Amino acid sequence: MKFTDEQASKIKEASEKYTDDIVTFLRDLIAIPSFSSQEGDCIKRIKEEMEKVGFDEVRIDAIGNVIGTIGNGPKKILYDSHIDTVAIADPTAWNHDPFKGALKDDIIYGRGASDNKAAIACMVYAGKIIKELDLLPEDITLYIAGVVQEEDCDGWAVYEMITTQGIKPDCVVLGECTNLAINRGHRGRCEIKVTTKGVSCHASAPERGVNAIYKMLPIIQGIEKLQGNLKDDPFIGPGSIAVTSIECKTASLNVVPDECTIYIDRRMTVGETTESSIEEIKALPGAEEAEVSLLQYETPSWTGYQPEWDKYFPTWVLEEDHPLVEAGMKCGEILFGEMPPTSRWVFSTDGISTMGRLGIPTIGFGPAEERHAHSVDDQVRIDHLTKSAMFYSLFPAVYSKHVK
Ligand SMILES: [Zn+2]
Repeated sequence: MKFTDEQASKIKEASEKYTDDIVTFLRDLIAIPSFSSQEGDCIKRIKEEMEKVGFDEVRIDAIGNVIGTIGNGPKKILYDSHIDTVAIADPTAWNHDPFKGALKDDIIYGRGASDNKAAIACMVYAGKIIKELDLLPEDITLYIAGVVQEEDCDGWAVYEMITTQGIKPDCVVLGECTNLAINRGHRGRCEIKVTTKGVSCHASAPERGVNAIYKMLPIIQGIEKLQGNLKDDPFIGPGSIAVTSIECKTASLNVVPDECTIYIDRRMTVGETTESSIEEIKALPGAEEAEVSLLQYETPSWTGYQPEWDKYFPTWVLEEDHPLVEAGMKCGEILFGEMPPTSRWVFSTDGISTMGRLGIPTIGFGPAEERHAHSVDDQVRIDHLTKSAMFYSLFPAVYSKHVK
C-alpha cells in the first residue's frame, strides 16, 4: 500500500465527521465512574459501542478487560488504553463536576478525561473508520483493548490478558496521554517493605526492651541520603526513592513496640532493577537484621479474578531508531505534515509489562497532556481527539508496510 495525500485527507475527513460521536462517547464514559477494580459498567459501555460501530468480534475476558478485534492477519497489533481512574480526593476542589464530562471552549473536563478514557474513545472510532475506509491490510489483526486496574497495578491486567488468552501481539500502542508525541519509555518502579523487630516491654522501663522504631531510624536516614544520589539517564531521568508510610505494632501506648514497618516507593532508571534496589537497602547501616521484601498486589478485578503479582514494574525504553518508533513517526508525518516529537512519560504505564516484562516492542501515542492526569483539572482538547482518531486509523497500515 502506498500512502497518498488523498488517503490522509479521507482519514482526516472521517475523523472530523465522527468527532461529535467521540465527544459524546467520551462524556458518557466520564459519567460512569470506573475506579480501579470497579470498572464493570464502563467496560460494558465500551463493549456496546464497539459492537455498534462494527468490530469483527467483541468480548469481555475473564479478567474484565474488553477486547475488540478487527481483521485476522498474522501480524498482531494491540492498542491498549486503560479505563480505570484514580479516585476523587476533594470534589469541591474541582471547577467542573468530575463525573459530568463538562464541555467548555472545546475542552472536555472530568475524571479520566486525560488519563485515559479519551484514548479508548478515539480507538473505538478509529475501528469504525478502519472498517469504513477499508484501511486494515490483510496481514494485520488489530486488537483494541480497554484494560482494567492500571492505576492500581500498572501492567497486571494486560499481562494476564496476553499470557493467558492467546493474544500475542507483535507490538503495542499505548493510548496514555503523550500530547500527540510518540513516547518510547519511562522509569520503572517497585514497592518495597522494610520491617525491623524489637523486644516489647513496659514503656516505663524502656531499657528492658528493644524499640523497633529506633532500629528503623538509621535505615530511614540512609534512604533519605540515597535520594539525589541514584543512577541517572539522559532520556528518562534519575531513579528516586521515598519512604511513603510508617507503622508499628504495639500492644498499647505504654508498651515499647516490637515491630516497625516502612513502605518505600522506588522509581528505577536505566541500569536499576528490583534486585539492585533491594540490595541497596539491605546494605544500609542498621539494615543488617531488617526484613526487606517486595509488596504483593492482591486486589481482585471486578469479575473476581485474583492477582498473584509482585509489585515490581521494570524500566523500559525502546530505541529511537526501532522500526516501531519509526512507524509511529511516519504515521504522524503522513497525517499531520511533520514528524511528531519522541518523548517519555514521567509516570508509569502498562508498558512495564508489554515491553518491560514481556519484551514486546511498545510505543505510546495519545491525546491530552500528562500534567492534567490525576489532577482536579483533568481534561482533553477536542482537536486532540480528532488527531488521535486519525493516528489510530492509519497506524496499522503504516506498521504493515514499515515493519517486516
Ligand atoms: Zn494512565
